Amino acid sequence: MDLIKVMETFPTQEDCIAYLERLRWAGSPECPHCESTHVRQRNEHDIGRIGRWNCHNCHATFKVTHGTLFHGTKIALQKWFVAIALMANAKKNLSSCQLSRDLGVPQKTCWRIMMAIRGEMGKDNVMLEGIVEADETYIGGKHKKDYDQEDGEPKKRGRGTAKDAVLGAVARGGKVVAELVQNTTAETIKDFIKSVVNTDDAELITDQYTGYNEIGKEMKHETLNRSETWEASEIHTNTIEGFWSFVKRAWYGSHHHYSTAYTPLYLAEACYKYNYRETHIFSNFLTQSMRSEI
Ligand SMILES: [Zn+2]
Repeated sequence: MDLIKVMETFPTQEDCIAYLERLRWAGSPECPHCESTHVRQRNEHDIGRIGRWNCHNCHATFKVTHGTLFHGTKIALQKWFVAIALMANAKKNLSSCQLSRDLGVPQKTCWRIMMAIRGEMGKDNVMLEGIVEADETYIGGKHKKDYDQEDGEPKKRGRGTAKDAVLGAVARGGKVVAELVQNTTAETIKDFIKSVVNTDDAELITDQYTGYNEIGKEMKHETLNRSETWEASEIHTNTIEGFWSFVKRAWYGSHHHYSTAYTPLYLAEACYKYNYRETHIFSNFLTQSMRSEI
């Protein structure tokens, strides 16, 4: 959904609330404290009480946003909706400075909104099947860490650098998962693959890095040989390499202030946007956020 459509569809706070109530309760509102459906909406004209409900069982009051991404927010839901639409549609990652200008909200608030949205995106559980390509890459990193402390020589690229190591796996024609890891040892790789791939059914395709040998003993595994020509072969890792390009374009387009602590959230955003690129990402995201607990 583009910006104009969001503004037209959700002109007021009430419109946003009504939409979220449909997504969360589908016409059957329920108390988030005791799960009773014996609830009633408070008087709409009660100032400051828009969207507030009373539970006749436990006597609590609650809103549709209870326990969700929007819990307790003082920012208008329309601004949240615009932020989600802008993030979902941005080719490169949106910056919080840009969002601040677009929403008329302080940059620090925008930064928190965007991090909360990324956190929600990271809750998407994915289990891969079929032909799965796995690979590792290195992103971010403070510039000085790229230099050896002893002799000041630049460290080599790829495996063994000071950048953040990221493992990724993608199902052909399906979804991707990427995770920040401490290292790329065989043990770490095995744990990662087993947590995101259905190893009983899937076929793993990787390059010849020996770190994949351990997991390769537990599932079907093919390695590509770059010295040979595999033009018509299924044995390639083009899909995961395409995803790494997507991550790096977004990353280096916007993250001037880098911190490893936030790498998982940026990865979550990249994965989510890739996984839902051909869907209604806006409504999909809001549906998920209304059905997951923070
Ligand atoms: Zn209740």
